[in-house]
Amino acid sequence: MSDKQTLSFQAEVKQILHLVTHSLYSNKEIFLRELVSNASDACDKLRFEALNRPELYGDAPNLEIRVFFDPAARTLTVRDNGIGMSAEEAVQHLGTIAKSGTREFLARLEGDQKKDANLIGQFGVGFYSGFIVADRITVESRRAGLKPEEGVRWTSDGSGEFDVEPITREQRGTDVILHLREGEEEFAKTWRLKSIIAKYSDHISLPILMRKEKWDEEKKEYVLSDEWETVNKAAALWTRSKSEITDAQYQEFYKQISYDSEPPLAYTHNRVEGRTEYTQLLYVPSKAPFDLWNRDKRAGVKLYVKRVFIMDDAQALLPVYLRFVKGVIDSADLPLNVSRELLQESRDVKAIREGCTKRVLSMLEDVAENQKDKYAAFWKEFGAVLKEGVGEDHANQERLARLLRFASTHADEGVSFADYVSRMKEGQEAIYYLTADSLAAAKSSPQLEIFRKKGIEVLLLVDRVDEWMLAHLYEFDGKPLQSVARGAVDLGKLQDEEEKKHAEQAAEAVKPLLERLKTTLKDRAKDVRVTTRLVESPACIVVDEGDMSTHLARLLKQAGQQAPKALPILEINPEHALVKRLESDERFDDLAHILFDQAWLAEGGQLDDPAAYVRRVNRLLVA
Ligand code: ADP
Ligand code: MG
Repeated sequence: MSDKQTLSFQAEVKQILHLVTHSLYSNKEIFLRELVSNASDACDKLRFEALNRPELYGDAPNLEIRVFFDPAARTLTVRDNGIGMSAEEAVQHLGTIAKSGTREFLARLEGDQKKDANLIGQFGVGFYSGFIVADRITVESRRAGLKPEEGVRWTSDGSGEFDVEPITREQRGTDVILHLREGEEEFAKTWRLKSIIAKYSDHISLPILMRKEKWDEEKKEYVLSDEWETVNKAAALWTRSKSEITDAQYQEFYKQISYDSEPPLAYTHNRVEGRTEYTQLLYVPSKAPFDLWNRDKRAGVKLYVKRVFIMDDAQALLPVYLRFVKGVIDSADLPLNVSRELLQESRDVKAIREGCTKRVLSMLEDVAENQKDKYAAFWKEFGAVLKEGVGEDHANQERLARLLRFASTHADEGVSFADYVSRMKEGQEAIYYLTADSLAAAKSSPQLEIFRKKGIEVLLLVDRVDEWMLAHLYEFDGKPLQSVARGAVDLGKLQDEEEKKHAEQAAEAVKPLLERLKTTLKDRAKDVRVTTRLVESPACIVVDEGDMSTHLARLLKQAGQQAPKALPILEINPEHALVKRLESDERFDDLAHILFDQAWLAEGGQLDDPAAYVRRVNRLLVA
């Protein structure tokens, strides 16, 4: 690039800029946090690249951030001597947004009553927050390793375009120069800037320098001197001892790394010693991010090695099912030049992952035990993700199972296996459950009738991942998990002798009927048999032991996958009036099919041939 060029912002950037300049009113000050955080990121990147190319430091090995203003020119500058940007990078990084999430950002902002600027950082568009207080931003930069003549000046008033031109710049790194809007003079005052930095950027591990103020006897006011002072603590938060850190500081640090506007639900901070040494500072958010369901989403844990930032989406440090956890892990043993590939194989990383997983589980156990409401809130947001762990993390399966919460016939939410077991009836051997598409469908399922009558609790599992989870979890506390919709219902010791005898007699009496039904429904049901599980309904559908549940088959179908075609079993209630008169009714065929279709509908299924069902019902209605 040799001349000045005028370029257009990407459409999404234009939209964001429009919103930023027209509708963010509260928390304006966060622009400084964003610019300082970019400066700090730039220094981290330089340190990382310099691991292999130490010459990048040149004669300025001390990384730092300077914040200064010029009251006369009404400018505020954030300067760093980090990695800098080449002209191409300036065009790329400050003119387009590579990340996803812009649309969610815009939607959130439009719905947000407070018009809270805090939202901006969460979506990785922090640089543009400068336009909240500036009507023009100039960026001057030179990438580490490039010649002084290869500097770049980027400038824009935030409307639709920006200019870029080559400049000569002696020092490496970036100046972001804000031309303050009319009315934003407060951001050209030392005390104000210092207090914003203390609030948001104290823990930044680099020194943030500002000019010292000196009392001027003649002017009778404080004036800026040429002396610089460090205005933040400049020690990474997690390296400080727990007793020195306040809850507010932990919370602020969380905001900084997570861009979450809500405070975290819980956190844990530990130095681990032993075979491998590391520090962990891990947070559980209060609210799920919009992309929680993307299993490939960037992990929330940043990896540092001996305080040097290495990478911020280190997948290997936590299992996928804990992808909602945010925080920092600082290892004392990993090599500084560790790559993603190496991470996957490292024994130290394995030990760290195991240690961190245990920590997170302990933290959740603690909340579940001592702050039930908080745990209920956590469960609503992240419960379904935690369930993935039951299948993926066999070593911790038992602990995870204890953390699960369900709906049941006893309570609509919050039922743990332990609660269930404590309410089990005398003689009850299994933990009963039913899977369904929704709580309403589960509750009205005919399969539950006998359990209701006997006051036996049944867990109602209505999450998509439940079926998958159940394929990996067979028991809790030595008690088998048993579906009430699979196989013959065996209430075992819960049925008394008289009931058993009665059932046997009833079954004997309807034997001929069963044979007729089997013949009529031979293409639809693999078997027809008598059941004791029904009280009010005439019939229900169950699947054979070992066959896929009808609910799972439906889920697979919805996902466009082929489900193995196994015919279900029709069970009938010999006590029901409809069943009793079936035998002698001349419309036997129609009634048999209707019985089957209704059983299918009652458990949330869809009919293969709804028109045939309607025809049959209508024939009965006009008869
Ligand atoms: P994010 O920081 O989440 O990537 P931003 O909007 O804050 O999003 O910044 C956009 C990009 O601009 C950064 O990713 C970085 O590549 C570049 N950038 C911003 N500030 C600086 C800086 N001080 N030095 C080097 N690059 C920067
Ligand atoms: Mg940023």
